Amino acid sequence: MPLLVMKFGGTSVASPDRIRRAAKRVGREVANGYDVIVIVSAMAGETNRLVGYVNEIAPFYDAREYDAVVSSGENVTAGLMALTLQEMDIPARSWQGWQVPLRTSSAHGSARIEEIPTDNINSRFAQGMKVAVVAGFQGISPEGRITTLGRGGSDTTAVAFAAAFGAERCDIYTDVDGVYTTDPRISDKARKLDRIAFEEMLELASLGAKVLQTRSVELAMRYHVRLRVLSSFEDNNESAGTLVCDEEDIVESKVVSGVAYSRDEAKMTLISVADRPGIAAAIFGPLAEAGVNVDMIVQNIAEDGRTDMTFSCPTDQVARAEKAMRAAKERGEVNFHDLVADKDVAKVSVVGIGMRSHAGVAAKMFQSLSREGINIKVITTSEIKISVLIDRKYMELAVQALHDAFELEKAG
Ligand code: ADP
Ligand code: ASP
Ligand code: MG
Repeated sequence: MPLLVMKFGGTSVASPDRIRRAAKRVGREVANGYDVIVIVSAMAGETNRLVGYVNEIAPFYDAREYDAVVSSGENVTAGLMALTLQEMDIPARSWQGWQVPLRTSSAHGSARIEEIPTDNINSRFAQGMKVAVVAGFQGISPEGRITTLGRGGSDTTAVAFAAAFGAERCDIYTDVDGVYTTDPRISDKARKLDRIAFEEMLELASLGAKVLQTRSVELAMRYHVRLRVLSSFEDNNESAGTLVCDEEDIVESKVVSGVAYSRDEAKMTLISVADRPGIAAAIFGPLAEAGVNVDMIVQNIAEDGRTDMTFSCPTDQVARAEKAMRAAKERGEVNFHDLVADKDVAKVSVVGIGMRSHAGVAAKMFQSLSREGINIKVITTSEIKISVLIDRKYMELAVQALHDAFELEKAG
């Protein structure tokens, strides 16, 4: 039997009614002759609620217990989806991650998928089951503990299943009808893309576009999974949504193809550290050990042998970073005058594979921000993206200004 993977995000399974609506879509594919693996997220808002409980009870939590708690939302929707399908006379069964078993690393909170055995589910398909419903976002570590794959991880579960089972396609059903030039909730000029290249989607995702988890795009690229993003609220025809595909299959030729933002950024500055060989290692070593994901880094010009070191990290890791730096100071490894955290910043980025062969994108970006009176705090660039850190209150304005400056509302 040909096989499809269909993934439903939180808003698509937010109530029994929506689960029924999603199940109907699955039913249509079964009627079309497919076996289906359905990957479900937790109901909208549920994972946030669970994370909130964990943080309230233990701000410096044990990540194994964090995973035990936050993985549970998906268990509920997996069971409810299987029941809904059964009510429609479609033979369905649910699986939690450990039952598959979806084996992962032991990096709790952001585990990597290592193996998905197919025999268990395939033998059920062979016996007449039509739909396997699998709880997204979760797996089991070599130590036998429940793990989670990082926020948005159900996308990755879906692509990994599509790769492991050789699915014809992996359809990601969400609350927008595809990938846009920027978040359609921020700019009403955002334009839906029919296709986007893996490389661009990878950058957009890693720079904050929530629509696909970064790791899911990586996996789809590596295993040649046909990955499509589409709406669970609208009727979709064959060419609906956005296909994530190889660069060669793209017809558009814009230099910049999208604008991404990330709201949850913080800027931290270590004031007056000694400018000596090894200082960066002395700072960023302990931060890495404490599990702080440092993103941008700037070291100011030194005066009198001392300098300021600035870096950015997710807002919810600031306390962790502060603790690690104060401990390093106490151990005498880093000596700084002060540690200042600015939690009111955001990162805005422009992405495009055309930037490889076009100069002037940075200049245009900076001019457009300057016209709006937006001050840039930190800049980083790579081959196909430019990111800036700015005050969070200007984030939406910056996204809109850049979307206009690069004329993204027009097809290129
Ligand atoms: P789900 O719960 O279905 O996984 P997510 O909230 O994780 O959905 O992702 C979908 C959201 O991603 C959309 O509601 C949209 O606000 C946001 N988003 C951000 N950037 C983009 C973009 N470039 N294109 C489409 N959606 C985007
Ligand atoms: N429920 C998880 C989250 O909110 C995983 C997912 O939805 O992809 O992050
Ligand atoms: Mg998501």
